[in-house]
Amino acid sequence: MAEKETRGFATEARQLLHLMIHSLYSNREIFIRELISNAADAADKLRFEALTHPELASAESGVWIEADKTAKTLTIRDTGIGMSRDEVIENLGTIAHSGTAQFVERMTGEQRKDAQLIGQFGVGFYSAFIVADHVTVLTRRAGAADADGTCWESSGEADYTLEPAVRAEHGTEIVLHLKADAEEFLDDYRLRSVIRRYSDHISIPVHLRKSVAGDAQEPGEFEAVNQAKALWSRSRSDVTDDEYKSFYKHVTHAFDEPLIWSHNKVEGNLDYTSLLYVPTQAPFDLWSREAPRGLKLYVRRVFIMDQAEQFLPMYLRFVKGVLDCADLPLNVSREILQQDKRVDTIKQGLTKRVLDMLKKLSKDDAQAYAAFWTEFGRVLKEAPAEDFANRDEVAKLLRFATTHTATENQDQSLEDYVARLRPGQDRIYYVCADNHLTAAASPHLEVFKKRNIEVLLLSDRIDDWVMTTLAMFDGKRLTDISRGDLGLDKIIGEETDEAATTDSKAKANDNDLADLLPRVKAALGDAVADVRLSQRLVSSPVCLVIGEHDMGAQMRRLLEAAGQDVPDTKPTLELNGNHALIRRLDAEIDEQRFGEFAHVLLDQARLAEGAQLPDPGAFVGRLNRLLVSLSGHSD
Ligand code: ADP
Ligand code: MG
Repeated sequence: MAEKETRGFATEARQLLHLMIHSLYSNREIFIRELISNAADAADKLRFEALTHPELASAESGVWIEADKTAKTLTIRDTGIGMSRDEVIENLGTIAHSGTAQFVERMTGEQRKDAQLIGQFGVGFYSAFIVADHVTVLTRRAGAADADGTCWESSGEADYTLEPAVRAEHGTEIVLHLKADAEEFLDDYRLRSVIRRYSDHISIPVHLRKSVAGDAQEPGEFEAVNQAKALWSRSRSDVTDDEYKSFYKHVTHAFDEPLIWSHNKVEGNLDYTSLLYVPTQAPFDLWSREAPRGLKLYVRRVFIMDQAEQFLPMYLRFVKGVLDCADLPLNVSREILQQDKRVDTIKQGLTKRVLDMLKKLSKDDAQAYAAFWTEFGRVLKEAPAEDFANRDEVAKLLRFATTHTATENQDQSLEDYVARLRPGQDRIYYVCADNHLTAAASPHLEVFKKRNIEVLLLSDRIDDWVMTTLAMFDGKRLTDISRGDLGLDKIIGEETDEAATTDSKAKANDNDLADLLPRVKAALGDAVADVRLSQRLVSSPVCLVIGEHDMGAQMRRLLEAAGQDVPDTKPTLELNGNHALIRRLDAEIDEQRFGEFAHVLLDQARLAEGAQLPDPGAFVGRLNRLLVSLSGHSD
């Protein structure tokens, strides 16, 4: 029982420790941030457990830090929840933090870059080994007997030891045996300034033992170094940007910096304070349904739960932060939250805060907004379907590539588009494809280019669905240019004359080519719904058009990929009466060659949309036969 046991670290933990010990860092002081943060978390956990087990709330909560210049140790003690022996093994012998692997991967051994990364990433308990060559952890779980304490020791290499220990108080005491080059942290002034920097936002008091003259370590007094006021309960004007940033790391354990935040107190029917952050970087599990999301919930500054996901819609799942609500009961559970009407009211309020914050960012800092869009734009696109009430607000936050800028960058808003509407234009036009290049090369764009009418170029898988769900923006119908009627005749402008000529030519062709359309339809049979002359095409011979209410090609592929049965609707083939190939087709008298020709044109129209051909081999065969016979070398 009283034996000392040696155990090995888990592989990932070993890698991380290796980095801590063998790299030199410019901001080594972050170990203080990590250890204080853990102590504050432990105090939160104890307060929460004391809600149901009041006998646990005995000791005064806080952190006590003490430097011993003779022994060259730094001791950090808390009266938090502590750990049982099993918890010590689980928490200090392995790395549960899923982001850590990612962190280790990004380390390169290049000192300057790594030093920066360490500062950005939360590295947790192991950061102690940045400054210490030996660490002792004495801990006892709240509620356990005095004799059930545990002593953990390690020099941060392959293994650690465990030994039973007696502790009169619950909580954790960490003793760092400082490396020779880290003795600066024994210096009172240095220590005080570092502790202050990293603890001002912490809601429990952090005490430092007053230094005593000379080297003598007489029992000195502790004095509080921080305000010990939960950061969100302080007034906005009292909190510095640095404090907001370090609080973000404390709350989220995230590895990045916050991009923006919004701190608000609401008083009235419901009293609550929120501090909401938009991260700089998307987490790797942004697209996983099971990924943790939600806010840290407090009731009157008592920590209640992590990941309270009821207070924000799914499409804002990247938002992190704290909600402290004075009106919820302390014993609130997830089940209770689900039924509580107040939760909806708060959710609406917080959603509006986030949307306002993003709107402000988009107006104030285009570059930062572009960075946000790259990370989270695709998540925001889920909003129109999820949140009807805010759909107009969210629509303003969406960004697109367009023919106006002729780049792949998604940086134009619907408002930008509307500001550029041509006289008489009452629609917003878009084209969807699987990638930007296909969208930008779509034959459907030809008449728009010719008449200088802007078209949004969409290439995200969900764009078709987003636009169909939005349907309107600012009174303008969102119109897929590969569907039915385009309403182009109402648009006037300098190019209209030219367009009118094309139109009249097309009409003239109507008579010229009167026989052609039924011949092509007969040759293609069921593959198309109809064959007609195009108003859309300028330089391509053919394109496919779908009915006003039919499912778009992109949506169809999305649903098919998801294994859904999609109703089979046929597109209409449009022919460009001015194109030499169509003229040649019309002149073809050999019926077999006519049929092959028509099929090749149909497949070509499919290819231009980025679709898969139903039978690529047949296409190649027909094309080759045509090339041979038309080049006059057939036998
Ligand atoms: P994180 O804080 O991100 O979970 P850490 O490496 O900082 O990662 O800590 C690992 C775990 O060890 C914590 O989640 C916690 O369970 C436990 N732990 C660390 N320090 C303390 C402490 N002072 N009191 C109680 N538990 C602690
Ligand atoms: Mg931690």
